[in-house]
Amino acid sequence: MAVRRILSVLTLLLPVLLVAQEVTVDRMMRVGLLRDRTVRQVVVMSGKGSCAIYADGQKRGEVGAADGVKVTVVNGRLEARSLQLAITGVKQLELRPVLPSGYLRMRVPETKLAERSYQGTLLITPQTAALQLVNVVPLEAYTAGVVQAEAGKEHHQEYYKLQAVSCRTYALTNQRKHLPEGFELCDGVHCQVYHGRCKDDSIRMAVDATHSLVLVDSDIRIIHATFHSNCGGQTVNAEDLWSKHEPYLRATTDTFCLNAPHATWQKTLSRGEWLGYLQRRYGLGTSDSATLEAVLNYTPERRDLHLGNVSPAIPLKHVREDLKLRSTFFSVKSEGDKVVLSGRGFGHGVGLCQEGAMRMAKLGFSYTDILHHYYADVHLVEITTLDFFKDDRAAPPVAPPLGE
Ligand SMILES: [Zn+2]
Ligand SMILES: [Zn+2]
Repeated sequence: MAVRRILSVLTLLLPVLLVAQEVTVDRMMRVGLLRDRTVRQVVVMSGKGSCAIYADGQKRGEVGAADGVKVTVVNGRLEARSLQLAITGVKQLELRPVLPSGYLRMRVPETKLAERSYQGTLLITPQTAALQLVNVVPLEAYTAGVVQAEAGKEHHQEYYKLQAVSCRTYALTNQRKHLPEGFELCDGVHCQVYHGRCKDDSIRMAVDATHSLVLVDSDIRIIHATFHSNCGGQTVNAEDLWSKHEPYLRATTDTFCLNAPHATWQKTLSRGEWLGYLQRRYGLGTSDSATLEAVLNYTPERRDLHLGNVSPAIPLKHVREDLKLRSTFFSVKSEGDKVVLSGRGFGHGVGLCQEGAMRMAKLGFSYTDILHHYYADVHLVEITTLDFFKDDRAAPPVAPPLGE
């Protein structure tokens, strides 16, 4: 079988690939910053040592740690000023720390945003009357920044490790998301939240311990590592939500999240609101007592795709969206003139259940066990392995670092 052949070749080549890894420079990501606001001015300082400034590809000087450079846009061109420098009329500025361990600090004076710091370089280009900011950052540093912003503080090391693997995997799967805009991923919830450099040692250790590891399916294709807050005891097949079947996103039973903070929810509506909504949206007939009973007293044993057994069918994913419910996994109970929806879980339910994974980590499961619990038949491989097996269908092409 082709897959088995690929895996056996993989095993033979593993030592070679591991040696190759040692000399491989981290791949770079281009992350668009603060895309949800209009930035007309930034102040950039060096966090350690000095930082070099390149204007349209030419080095124009350095900014010391005690100085800062203010960048604005004037008539569609950039202007940069520091104590020592005055650069005007250019199309691109690149700020690059001189020390390998250096980083940049950035402030946006027009906003109340706290100062952020970034590893790698900062590319600034004019975009009509605003600035486009792109952080060109090593994948591992970006992964650590995302884990800090997405996972939060004080989790178990194994939990941070699996977050590192899934954030890294997500970054590679979604590398084309913003290509027409001149970068790969944005720094908001649209892609993955990224507020710059990771300052948490525990997260950095977890990222280092999983260096370059990503998840692939049995065809060595990088997976869509989707996750949600709490599955309510049962995860969802990918095709039940998005119509696209993925062999690794299968419904599975999960007992680890049942006592977690988002395990249950409740919402009360008036009987009129509930039936009125079903009538308007799905043309539900309320004259038939069996139909009424099916939508007023409904208790699913497992996750359903549709509410009750009524015609026309009522897709639960639409009910969730319309009524802004935490999940599609809920029962309905009629109590006098009220209707109580009692739900389980929080989120779409596909892929990894975060609260279940946190619990598994606390109970002593390794991050690989946890990933295999939520993603069926996946493998952890080094990114270099993907490059080796790359074809049209495999990992997306990697853009070369800009300004290198
Ligand atoms: Zn995005
Ligand atoms: Zn769960």
